[in-house]
Amino acid sequence: MTNKLKLFIGNWKMFGDFGSFKIVNSINKFAIKNKKFNNKKIVICVPNTLIHFFKKKLKKKIISIGAQNCHENEKYGPFTGSVSAFMLKKMGAEYIILGHSENRQEGEVNSLIKKKIISSLKQKLNVIFCIGETSKDKSKGRTFPILRSQIKGSLEKKFNMNKIILAYEPVWSIGTNKIPKKNDLENTIKYIKKFFKKNFKTTKTPKVLYGGSVNSKNIKLFSSITDIDGFLIGGASQSSKKFIDIIKNYYK
Ligand code: PEP
Repeated sequence: MTNKLKLFIGNWKMFGDFGSFKIVNSINKFAIKNKKFNNKKIVICVPNTLIHFFKKKLKKKIISIGAQNCHENEKYGPFTGSVSAFMLKKMGAEYIILGHSENRQEGEVNSLIKKKIISSLKQKLNVIFCIGETSKDKSKGRTFPILRSQIKGSLEKKFNMNKIILAYEPVWSIGTNKIPKKNDLENTIKYIKKFFKKNFKTTKTPKVLYGGSVNSKNIKLFSSITDIDGFLIGGASQSSKKFIDIIKNYYK
């Protein structure tokens, strides 16, 4: 088993209240207990309503708390109901998910996501930038062109790439219990890394996560793909047991 840093990032989506602290607390305790065991980073991206509360309540915190989206305007403005990267950072967020397919489905386009990335980077947030094809794209053989256009449409060479983590999440795999074939996934992760380096003329390989229906059973299949730098875990991150079992089984 590799000792390369692996990221396990939970995306709670629209879930949780103050009582859900017990979930993050158990995950944090697990992380403390297993601190020396493998090189891993755990982040839980929660609704904005919980960021500050969890940050304050976590004692001896070794996991990080993240947000799931923001308004593109960096600080304050006449945007009713919106929250900026500046405000999320003030609340204690260290990471932010941007470009999630659930937000793309609501109309977010590459150029808007780019503005959000710029605002988040200005706030020194670590950006988890989601890309992925729909089942229609896949059936038309358009996976790679879609991934290219999402990367080109939202990232620029001048961005601080050390703060950007890509998350490959095929839309057809999110919350469906469907996962890509091992060979396809391996090729796609390799392709993303290769394209990124070529497009941005860099020798630095980006971190690429996989997300989509990850659970404690299928994680073993993913763990054999060494190019995957970690996982973005939706539904299963809403349970400390399921989330911890994924990590345990990954290293089994
Ligand atoms: C997600 O929402 O990013 C995700 C991967 O969801 P799930 O794990 O539930 O498929």
